[in-house]
Parts: sequence; C-alpha cells; structure tokens
Amino acid sequence: MHKEAALYGRYINHGSITPLIKELPNEFTVEQLGVSVQKRPIEVVTWGEGSVKILAWSQMHGNESTTTKAVFDLFKWLHLNKNDNQVKQLHNSLSLKIVPMLNPDGAEVYTRINANKVDLNRDAQDRSQPESQILHNLYSEFKPDLCLNLHGQRTIFGVGNPAKSATVSFLSPSQDELRTVTQSRKKGMAIIANLAQMLEDFIPGQVGRYDDGFNLNCVGDTLQHLNIPTILFEAGHFKEDYDREETRAFMFLSLLGVLESVALQDWDKNPDYRPYFSIPENSKCFFDIIFRNLNYPNRGLFDLAVQYEEQLKNTAVHFVPKISQIADLECYFGHKEYNCKGSEAVFSSNFELKEGVILEEFKVKGDLSTTFSLKS
Ligand SMILES: [Zn+2]
Repeated sequence: MHKEAALYGRYINHGSITPLIKELPNEFTVEQLGVSVQKRPIEVVTWGEGSVKILAWSQMHGNESTTTKAVFDLFKWLHLNKNDNQVKQLHNSLSLKIVPMLNPDGAEVYTRINANKVDLNRDAQDRSQPESQILHNLYSEFKPDLCLNLHGQRTIFGVGNPAKSATVSFLSPSQDELRTVTQSRKKGMAIIANLAQMLEDFIPGQVGRYDDGFNLNCVGDTLQHLNIPTILFEAGHFKEDYDREETRAFMFLSLLGVLESVALQDWDKNPDYRPYFSIPENSKCFFDIIFRNLNYPNRGLFDLAVQYEEQLKNTAVHFVPKISQIADLECYFGHKEYNCKGSEAVFSSNFELKEGVILEEFKVKGDLSTTFSLKS
C-alpha cells in the first residue's frame, strides 16, 4: 500500500511533514526555498531527470490538506515502484518539482489565509507576501511546462442534477476576460478530460468542472496568462469522509494520471480538449445535513440545513454543526437528509431557532419521535 501512514485526517501542519521530508529516499532532492511570515521553512521536492517540467504546490490555503497527503502518497508510490518500467519512463521523461506546503503558517492554525491574513491565491499580482514571492521566484526560474495548483473545496459543491457530491473538481483557468480557449488552456483541458474519464470508474458522476471566470489575482490565471498551462485541483467531499481519506486516494490517482498523460502521451501537440466541456460544472447546492418538512410553533413547515464549521482544537479538526438556512430547500441536497414529514421540532430550553446557531441535538415529536444528535 502506498498510503503515507504518518499523515491522517484534516490537520496537517509543517511539523507533520518535516520528518517525511527529511526521510525522503535519495531519488528525491529537497531544497528550502525560503521561509513564511512566521519563519517556517518552505521546501520544494524534486524528482525525475526528464525534459518536461511540471511544477505543483499544495496547501497554499492552510486548511486544504488533502492534496498534501496525496503528494506524499505519490512520493511513496514512486519510490516503491522505482524499478518498474513505467516509473523509469516517468523518471526519464519528467522533471517534477512539488512544494508540499506553501502556507505553513496557515496550516499551523488551520486557516485559508497566511499569518498576515492574506489569501495567497489573490496575491499573484501584488506578491505582497513572502510565500507569494517564493512561488513566483520558483516558477520564474524553473520555467515549467505545466503547473498543478492543488486545493481543497468545501462540502457545499455538487455536480449534475439530481446532484452528487463534487468529490473531485478541476479547472483549466482562463487567461483573459473573454475566457478564450487558447492553446495553453487546451493542454490543461485535455489532461483534465483524461483524469475525469479515469475517475469515472471510481466516483461516477462526482467529477466537476470549476467556473472559469477570469481573475488575474489568482495564481492559476496569472500562470495561464503567461501561457503556462495550469490545472486547478480541488479535493472535495466523498460520502461520510470528513477526514478526506477517500478523496486523498482520488487525488493521488489524479496526480499520477497527470504524470502519465504528460510522459506517455502526445499531450501538447494536438490536445483533444473537447471532452473537457462535457464535464458538468460545479454548483453550490449541498449542505451537510438537511431536515425536511419540520414544524415549529408559529412557524409552519420549513426545511432546516446544517453545515459543519471546521474548528481546530488542540491537534484535531472538530466539526461543529451550525444552522445554515431555515427555508424551503427544495433545490438543494444534503449529504444526509431526513424527511420529518411535518413533525414538530423540540429544541432545548433557551434555544433560538436562527441561522448561525450551533445545533447539537433536537427531538421531533409525533409518529417519528426521534432524537437527532448532530455531534460529529
Ligand atoms: Zn484553496
């Protein structure tokens, strides 16, 4: 098994990956590129001796750790299979550089932003932060043929109708306001089309395509604007998998799929990008839990949506259930759904039924007569 067992769950900080980086086998080289705002090291790992250069970075948003786990799974897999012909071919065709954690300060406190409260994926033009400068210097010197921008997405995204959870999403970002399908974009689109087809066997109908609105402050759009094909990865929700251990495997397969697409196929001459457009677009149509047709005195029938808020306590991420919407949610989906069939809800004393409130437990009366416990 190639899973890097030292990494598990959602809270992955720089301390989690430091021993793994130190113990990487000698076909990998590690270089410290600089330090974060709070002086944590930012490293790049290099593998391969080929002519096609791929640059990837993970955890630019500190609380998006799934792809970091997948990156170390990839390192492990490449090492365990280093004598296989396929891996030798990858090694001879590719030069891979991966920054496993671009925002170690955000990772430490489990935030999207860095220590100066800047979203690094909106800082591509200003480059006001040391982490942004490090990434800029790296791609300016390395001159990659392809970039992979590795992220994670919330549980709110779905694909299709009726929607399924968007477990994995991709984007070949725009490089201009008109969203022109340029040669650079086509290369990314063709690879994404391969990945979507491969993933269809594992998670049918759960691969989505991100909105391609142009924003030059985003790193992917900036790189694409420089005619460097770039693929955005978004690790999303798989049923019941709040630790993102299942999604981790799909991200690993996708990373490997990119390497194979690039090394073993004629990826950049005549990319067949058209199937990209048949991947359904993501939409924000999911909640973690929906209780349908609840009744409450003086309120009438309504649907109640609960969304887990991720909070770091000690060294683990806790999922705090909060009321997200009280409305008719006919057009939305829940990762869990309960039809309460008009039963009356009974909340604890002093409870105020409104959005933003923590809801850990409540009862319904009548035929259903159940207590719902929402603590994770
Ligand atoms: Zn992100």
